Amino acid sequence: MFAVEFIAVGTELLLGQIVNTNASWVGSRLADAGLGHFRQTVVGDNLDRLVAAIWEAAARSDAVILSGGLGPTRDDLTREAMAAAAGVELVRDQEYALALRKYWESRGREMPESNLQQADQPAGSIPLPNPKGTAPGLRLDMGDAVLFAVPGVPAELFPMMEDHVMPILQKLAGGDDAVMVSRLIRTWGESEAKVGEILDDLFESSRNPTVAFLASSGEIKVRLTARAATTEAAAAMIAPVEAEVRARLGARVFGADDDTIEEVIYALLRARGWSVGTAESATGGMIAARLTAVPGCSDTFRGSVVAYQEDIKVDILGVDPATIAEHGVVSESVALEMVEGAARVLDVDVAVSVTGSAGPDPQDKPVGTMVFAVRTPRGAVARTLRLPGDRERVRTYTATAALHHLRLALQEEEES
Ligand code: ATP
Ligand code: MG
Repeated sequence: MFAVEFIAVGTELLLGQIVNTNASWVGSRLADAGLGHFRQTVVGDNLDRLVAAIWEAAARSDAVILSGGLGPTRDDLTREAMAAAAGVELVRDQEYALALRKYWESRGREMPESNLQQADQPAGSIPLPNPKGTAPGLRLDMGDAVLFAVPGVPAELFPMMEDHVMPILQKLAGGDDAVMVSRLIRTWGESEAKVGEILDDLFESSRNPTVAFLASSGEIKVRLTARAATTEAAAAMIAPVEAEVRARLGARVFGADDDTIEEVIYALLRARGWSVGTAESATGGMIAARLTAVPGCSDTFRGSVVAYQEDIKVDILGVDPATIAEHGVVSESVALEMVEGAARVLDVDVAVSVTGSAGPDPQDKPVGTMVFAVRTPRGAVARTLRLPGDRERVRTYTATAALHHLRLALQEEEES
């Protein structure tokens, strides 16, 4: 595979005075383009170390991008280092030297002679235009590798990369694996390790497509990435693997790519023409907030009762005080009465309720005991979670879990 390396030049970077944002920008840009990118280096403004870094990178990669060190001062050494690494002279681009002189004259100022250093280029190199600054970039072919020098200033680097470096890299990479396509399969309800075990043998011997597992806020994402000559060919390589992954993970899969659980729920509700509302105690409206964050939800979301105190649960939602006395306010029985009350008072087909002890002080049950119920026209179910963590984590996780169980309940409806 065509491999690109990135070298950020600058002692400021090593001293932590500036953050190497060029590295992350170049990294994500190369990834978007499907180009191989296996190493990044930071080197200070030191000629010997710079030459050595260029040599090493050029020996193992097809292209090397250097950022920074192109300015007019003594510590701007990238041009000199490229010339030394390639074993060529620095030659002055007279045309560019003249343009620099004229630029200074036009401003009525005398140009310091040292500024002409910017017009020096390794023999055989091709300048890359820099519309946002004075120092041009450079391309220099060195053996089998091609070197690029681009400015360190991000506002100059971005357009030069886009307009001049990326097109050359794409062309050079060409060949069999020019395009990379990724597909993210979103799952919920299983640990990362378990998802990994379920899929393990699928990727044992496969390098294309590859698989990566990503975990965040209770969701496990499976990313499939294929490389091929065209987008269509890469997508065609992913399709059967995605089908197999979905078959093995079953109902754990709730969406793909940018899908969110909220959008998936609305799609399921709309397919049935059902409305939704919530009755929330410990989550205080977090589920309602997430459902109402989706634009255009007003055709489906009707409202929410934040029933925090017991008398609100009783007076507004119609929870029986006897149920509270018998089972406690944090109980599946109360969650079920809350969810039926929500369906009634909000006049909705589908409802979610939450009651719980989110901490730090225990409320009826031990801290972390969270109960939610989900109700559809076919029936209602309640579940009890015992969660670790602080109040914020417990509440957030409960809201997410309740949404996923709502999704599962709706999908069951769909299948029956
Ligand atoms: P100049 O002509 O300004 O000297 P240059 O191409 O020689 O530009 P440097 O001198 O290395 O680049 O850096 C100029 C400025 O660009 C730095 O002070 C910093 O603000 C920014 N910069 C340089 N390298 C990076 C980097 N890797 N990531 C983010 N910003 C950077
Ligand atoms: Mg500089």
